Amino acid sequence: MSKVGSAACEALSRLGAVLPVDPSALTDGQLLDFVSRVEAASRQVEALKLAAARAVSERSERDDPDSLARRLGFRTAAGAIQGMTKSSGKEAAKLIRDVEDLAKLPQVEAAVLDGRIGRESAAAISGELKKVAGKDFDRAEVRQIAAVEAELVELATSVGADEVKARAAEKAAALNVRAVEDQAKTAMDGRFFWIGPTVDGAAKVSGLLPAGHAAVVRGVLDGLSNPKGKKTVSFAPDPDAAPADVRTRGQKAADHLRDVFATAARSAEMPDMGGDHPTVWISTTAAELESGKGLAFYAGTPEPVPVQEARQAACAGGIQTVIFGKDGDALNLGLEVRGFTKRQRRAIALRDGGTCIIPGCDVPAQWCEVHHVTPYQEGGPTDVCNGVLVCWFHHHEIDSGPWHLRMTHGTPEVRYTHGSTDTGWKPTGNGTAARIRAAAPPGRDAGE
Ligand SMILES: [Zn+2]
Repeated sequence: MSKVGSAACEALSRLGAVLPVDPSALTDGQLLDFVSRVEAASRQVEALKLAAARAVSERSERDDPDSLARRLGFRTAAGAIQGMTKSSGKEAAKLIRDVEDLAKLPQVEAAVLDGRIGRESAAAISGELKKVAGKDFDRAEVRQIAAVEAELVELATSVGADEVKARAAEKAAALNVRAVEDQAKTAMDGRFFWIGPTVDGAAKVSGLLPAGHAAVVRGVLDGLSNPKGKKTVSFAPDPDAAPADVRTRGQKAADHLRDVFATAARSAEMPDMGGDHPTVWISTTAAELESGKGLAFYAGTPEPVPVQEARQAACAGGIQTVIFGKDGDALNLGLEVRGFTKRQRRAIALRDGGTCIIPGCDVPAQWCEVHHVTPYQEGGPTDVCNGVLVCWFHHHEIDSGPWHLRMTHGTPEVRYTHGSTDTGWKPTGNGTAARIRAAAPPGRDAGE
């Protein structure tokens, strides 16, 4: 370390020139000048403190039995400084830590010692850069650190310590590529996803996703949850009648997660299990399915669920009848009534548009279920003229109440009733059918 104090000498003599002084008697202009002289002098005194502490530290090597600290009756340099200055242990330790940090960053140290930057800004820079400077870097990286150090010192001469700290943190992260790589590896090694058994009607989910995995999942769920910041589902021409989608963000995300997996299960690319796609099986009795009262069971889960879940699944996915004897033996396998085919789904999507049929819902058509408008049990055919694409949630809402669908001239109409709200029947969808309707001459009424 070279000689220090010439800048301090000047700052102290600038302050000395106006002392003694009664600050309360100064004019505003004189007070401002006094404040800046005091700050400059105090900065220099801080620099001298650091220089002195560094010298004490150098003469107080831990292993040296004849060190300065030992001779004064202390074990460490910090102890010696605490003893000499009567400062707190914390303050003395911080002073020595600053000294050690600065020794690794020559440009910052020089700037502090000649008073260009304050000790706080210096600590902000060294605090962040030491996270990377201590590492085993190659020469190119060392040069990069030196360039960043210079840049931050320059910044610290014109802005406050908080801003210096924020910028230093950014720069340190950019330099610290290896630490980021290590972190990514740890995250990748620790990844897991777990879905627990169904207990009390629900299954717990937990997991740890690496950033990339999380980004994909989050992107899909966020994109669907509120794509345009919309809060309500509305009929475009009649916003007053807009029924609210009352789901929370978390509830929507849960529904969309399900929709995504249901889509994957339908995909032709999904590996099949004994000739079958990984579909969910849910069983109930014919009587319960018809009456809509009773229970159903998901395959592999002993817990029952309301039979409405089986009705919705049957509506979208098809039914197979199995007749059991009184001993529980399967007597007869009925024909499997398949759900809508891929070709039918495409025709329906073309007719009604690219999303769930419920106005304002943005779930893409390929993620939707095909709903039998006239239920299969009531003789409704599995036919394009009886099918509409709805997301799982709105399918549930159709079966359970507020939304209603009917087909008129082979195209769907929708109605929302809840409390005192009743929108009446309106054509819905924004596909080819809507374009043909818009182009048709007036007079052909869709009917009430
Ligand atoms: Zn929907």
